Amino acid sequence: AERPANVYEMLARSAATFPDGEALVKGETRLCYAELKQLVDRAASRLVEQNVRKGDRVALLLGNDIEFVLTALACAKIGAIFVPLNTRLTANDLIYMMTDAGAKMLITNREFVRPLEDWLARDPLIQYCYLTDGHDPEKRLYSFHEELLQRTAGETQLDTPPEETDPLYIMYTSGTTGLPKGAVGSHINAIHSCLSYQFVLQTDHTTRTLVAVPLFHVTGLIGQLLHMLLVGGTVVLMERYQTETAIRLIQQENINFLFNVPTMYIMMMSHSLFHTFSYDFVRIVAYGGAPMSKETIGGLRRCFPNAFLHNAYGATETTSPTTIMPKQYPDDKTDSVGVPVPVADIKVVTETGETAKPGEAGELYIKGPMVIQQYWNRPEANIASFTEDGYWKSGDIARIDEDGFVYILDRKKDVINRGGEKIYSVEVENVLYAHPKVLEAAVVGVKDPVFGEEVKAYVVAKPGNTLTAEELIAFARQRLPKFKTPKQVELIDQLPRNPGGKVLKNKLVEMSLADQQK
Ligand code: ATP
Repeated sequence: AERPANVYEMLARSAATFPDGEALVKGETRLCYAELKQLVDRAASRLVEQNVRKGDRVALLLGNDIEFVLTALACAKIGAIFVPLNTRLTANDLIYMMTDAGAKMLITNREFVRPLEDWLARDPLIQYCYLTDGHDPEKRLYSFHEELLQRTAGETQLDTPPEETDPLYIMYTSGTTGLPKGAVGSHINAIHSCLSYQFVLQTDHTTRTLVAVPLFHVTGLIGQLLHMLLVGGTVVLMERYQTETAIRLIQQENINFLFNVPTMYIMMMSHSLFHTFSYDFVRIVAYGGAPMSKETIGGLRRCFPNAFLHNAYGATETTSPTTIMPKQYPDDKTDSVGVPVPVADIKVVTETGETAKPGEAGELYIKGPMVIQQYWNRPEANIASFTEDGYWKSGDIARIDEDGFVYILDRKKDVINRGGEKIYSVEVENVLYAHPKVLEAAVVGVKDPVFGEEVKAYVVAKPGNTLTAEELIAFARQRLPKFKTPKQVELIDQLPRNPGGKVLKNKLVEMSLADQQK
């Protein structure tokens, strides 16, 4: 069959081939492919009637809900661009992102809209805001179900369908400057990534996956949701990750394809309920977003005896997969993130700018039809992050061995990876510097058994001031989402610096390791 021309076509084809096949499950709601397509069609027509046109941005601030899926696919049908927002962020961040994207519509719920209400009342940017679980016409908050789904669409004339290079979504990632930037994922980026997953993992219409990671990141959106639509498989949604519910859903829903960040597997395997069940029916256990220890991999091998384990390495900028561990591999390559997906062109570039020899370390550069073309409205970032010949500079330090297996060794970018969520140190440091008693601050990731890394701040107080860790943590918590707030603050006399004045973060990490061993 020919490649689908846009993401909506992936759904339309599966609806034609497997109309009765189970597509989407959330709680009591179960939709087959024909039903899913019908709801998406209706939502698409209503969006057009509300004046959403090709290229317009629609912000999505939801957990893993049916309405998230319906809106995203409706946008994909009419060529509108959805903007999935991280529900854990502060109102300031969310407003920044919606403003940067120029969103004219917001789909959210009562819980998440609350901190945004003042802004919505004041700022004319968002013309329509729909709630999935209520409405309040006085505040111009409308009901998603009544306004976008239940009203039957008239003879709405749709524009021509989006072309493959048209943007599908804008997904915000943090940046080295601390300001989020929107990665523009196109239809063709997403289609290529879905095809890669299908090809490497050998999924089909019998594949059933549990989406426990958020749909607002690429693993959930691409690796699970859209990938399943391509193959006609089943997507079971969890509003948000919760260990016990995840364990029960795997059993009840016969989940045979898992795709989680390491932290979730660690949490599941350390829960007693997990070990009361067997998991013979699980065929694929994929993991990514962060490094995973050999012990955890060993645990997965024992718990999922009939599954292939696949480490998957990628990023928002590569629309998820760049390398995936093949089904079979020699034991001594357990540490590796696998081999490039067929369409990925990767190389390791050394500090002197040369292409590395096999085994030699350097920054991983990635090119291919799954790599985004640009960040939204960020000409400087586009120049800084992409080479002239189209490679994205990942900021990851890697090596490629003689057999083509890739190993992620370290990071060049100053980012903390907390259970797959990326936290740029500079953002946390900026907040600490805003405290009147802080002279200097440096933020690093320190080892954590469950999250991989946790946020730790080293702070120097201004002379003559008394400053406590508690005081600073409380200060940071008011300005940062919980997951970015330092778990520990240590007050020291001065930050270690090199002769050029640059803070030696690896020294700080060493200090924290020494502390942990005490
Ligand atoms: P998601 O956001 O859905 O978790 P992601 O982690 O692939 O997907 P980003 O949040 O953009 O996407 O983070 C990308 C970075 O995560 C990579 O540059 C790398 O540092 C790290 N990373 C991703 N996958 C792996 C992996 N399998 N092993 C080690 N590090 C990884």
